[in-house]
Order: sequence, then structure tokens, then C-alpha cells
Amino acid sequence: MDHFDIKDGVMHAEDIALPQIAEAVGTPVYVYSRATLERHARVFRDALDAVPDKLIAFAVKANPNLAVLKVLQGQGYGADVVSVGEMRRALAAGITPDKIVFSGVGKTRDELNAALDAQIGQFNIESEEEGLELAELAEAKGVEARCALRINPDVDAGTHDKISTGKADNKFGVPISEAGQIFGNLADRPGVQLRGVAVHIGSQLGDLAPLERAFEKLGELVRALRGAGHTITHVDLGGGLGVPYRKGESLPSPAQYGEMVARVTKDWGVSLIFEPGRVIAGNAGVLLTRVVRVKRGINDPFVIVDAAMNDLARPALYGAYHDFAAVAPNGADMTANIVGPICETGDTFAMGRVCDQLVAGDLAVFRTAGAYGATMASSYNSRGFIAEVLVDGDKSAVVADRIDAGSIMDAERVPDWLE
Ligand SMILES: *Cc1c(COP(=O)(O)O)cnc(C)c1O
Repeated sequence: MDHFDIKDGVMHAEDIALPQIAEAVGTPVYVYSRATLERHARVFRDALDAVPDKLIAFAVKANPNLAVLKVLQGQGYGADVVSVGEMRRALAAGITPDKIVFSGVGKTRDELNAALDAQIGQFNIESEEEGLELAELAEAKGVEARCALRINPDVDAGTHDKISTGKADNKFGVPISEAGQIFGNLADRPGVQLRGVAVHIGSQLGDLAPLERAFEKLGELVRALRGAGHTITHVDLGGGLGVPYRKGESLPSPAQYGEMVARVTKDWGVSLIFEPGRVIAGNAGVLLTRVVRVKRGINDPFVIVDAAMNDLARPALYGAYHDFAAVAPNGADMTANIVGPICETGDTFAMGRVCDQLVAGDLAVFRTAGAYGATMASSYNSRGFIAEVLVDGDKSAVVADRIDAGSIMDAERVPDWLE
């Protein structure tokens, strides 16, 4: 459920008509709804009511905007970060270090050092090599890094290949078959307090079964580790819950997820960490765009919008579906190819899509663009980075300025010897 509805014939974000934002800020622009973010944060938390001891750490990579992080900080959320850049954002949004979890296969020494200095809550170590390096750095500082070992449970998440992370041949985590050995090798090192295990098997999961299989394997591992004399106090269950991108699409609800988690983990006696991203932010944002031109095609017309694959990469990257709708629908439909202006055929949002009838100058939105939208933008074709706006009831604010192509060019130099 979200707060992007048609009122008096015009789509609103909460109480603000989208044309008002287009007028004030220009297009394309991302528009987020605070009420929707807060609703999703509450629903996810309530779904885990039966889990007594937990930290919900928003996966910052889904939407790293400072204002978005501030809203979630206000909901008591921590942050799952995958770079020092994201860690800085979480801290800047007022998320306390103890609620920050650092994931990622390629944390550099500089990043590990910065996170040690910030005294973050937990490092999710993705290899024995990383664990040894972290232990050495922490020992040199005379501190102890709280850690969990990320496990690759070898389950097929049943999602798009590029966002599957829990198969044996994916780069993430250590193989579950070697986990006991690696845990043992790291557990006694000064510098690390290895207190648990972590999994994250993929994103946009449409089925709870692979998650349940992964969690069950993790539960067995926890028992085995305890059997070997290790103390396990924390288990991180990652993120991955999918969201509906199409009208009427049915996905496991947070409540069903929470029920499964509570059932599978009830005897674990640990503090659980969750890392939801998409399920919190996905439907809390739209990409507002204007039709540049409608061009005749051999079959269907091309609706050319001013947003492109550099602004919203998911369709080009994953063949992802985003619902596309007119801001002021006239009641008529058309079948069209929805494309951006970039000089690549990949800059296609949809082919042969039945959508609201649109003409040049009309406004439209791509829905469910609040997660993995702005955060994946590039400046390809020297298009710069577009603005982001947060709406709260009848208030709105620009929460990220447009960065135009000129500012990017200002950061470039032609060396003297080329002059
Ligand atoms: C991306 C990511 C998440 C968030 O995934 P969602 O599908 O957006 O919930 C959580 N944990 C880790 C380690 C990730 O890489």
C-alpha cells in the first residue's frame, strides 16, 4: 500500500499534486512519501512482534538519501551498509554506530579501519581472509570488532540471477560446508569477537520457501557451532522480501515472513538482525517524468519520456517491470513502447505496454521506484543526476538537488600538456 493516489483526476503524493512538484523542481524527479516509508517500517516491525530481541537495519543501498534514512532512524531502524560512504550517511542521519551492520565482500583496509574507528555494531565477514585482516587491524588499535560470519547456504532464491546471492557459486559469504572450520579459525583471534552468523540469499524474493530453507540450514549450523563450544548470540537473517511491481501481483506479506521467522528461530536463543531494503522503500517512491514526444512506430508508437536508463536502471539492468501511469489519466488507453532519450536500445522501459493514453507534454510516473532507483543512477550521456523530493502530508522538500552535467564537467581537468 502506498500514498500515490488519483484525487480529482490528478495523481498526488500524499496531499501534494504531482504537477505542482514538476512545476517547482522540473522533471525527471524522484518523489518519496514519508507516510508510506513509515507505514512500511511499522508493518515490517509489527510483523516481527513475536521476535523478542531484534535489530532492524535498513539496507542503505536500496535508498541512501539522507532524508529517507532520517525517517527510518525516527522509526528506530538501524542501517545495513556496504561501503564507508553508506556508513557515513547512516551516521549523518543520526543512526547510532551500535545499530550499524557492515556487509560486503570487498571491504578495503581503509573501510575496515574507518568502521572500527566508528565503533559500528557488527561486521559481517564474508571470507576467512577478511576476518584475519580485520582481526589484525582491530588488534593494532587495541579494540575488539563484533562480527558475524556470512554463510553462503547454497539455496536458489528463485529470483533474477543478478540479484541472487546465496548459491554456492555466488561471491558472497563462506560455503556452509566450510563454515564450522572457518568459524573455528577466526573465533580465537584477538581483535574479533565472533558472535554469530549471517545470511542474505537475494533480493525481490517472491516465495518464502528458499528463505525458510536457508534459515533452517543456519539453525543447524548454530547448533553445530555451539556443539563445538562456540558462543552464538547473534544471527543476521538479511533482507530480500519482494514487493509487488505489477497491480494485483501477490507476494509473501511481511506478516507471513514474520510468522515463518518466529517459527523457525523460536529455539535459537539469539538476538536477530534483519536487513530489509526494497520492502521498506520500493513502493514509497515514484519517478515523475514528462513525455517529450510521441513518435510513430512500425507497430506501436514510442512514448519518449525525459527519464532514462541512467535515472532508473532496473529495466535495462534486469529487464525489470515498472508500472507506468499518467499523472492525469483521460480514461483512454494506448499500447506503446516506453523509452528514454539515451542512445542505446537498452534505454527501454517497456515494449508493447498497455498504458494510459499520453501526448507530448503530459506527466507520467514509473511506480515502485523508491528502492534501487536514484541510488543506481549514473550520468551517462552527460545527463547529470536528477533531484529527489520528499512529501509529508501537504509539505514537500527537495531532499537531493539536481546535479547538472555542468557541475560534473567542473570536476574534470584537461592537463596542461594537452593544451
Ligand atoms: C542488498 C542487501 C540487502 C537488502 O536486500 P532487499 O532485497 O532490498 O531487502 C540486505 N542485506 C544485504 C547484505 C544486501 O546486500
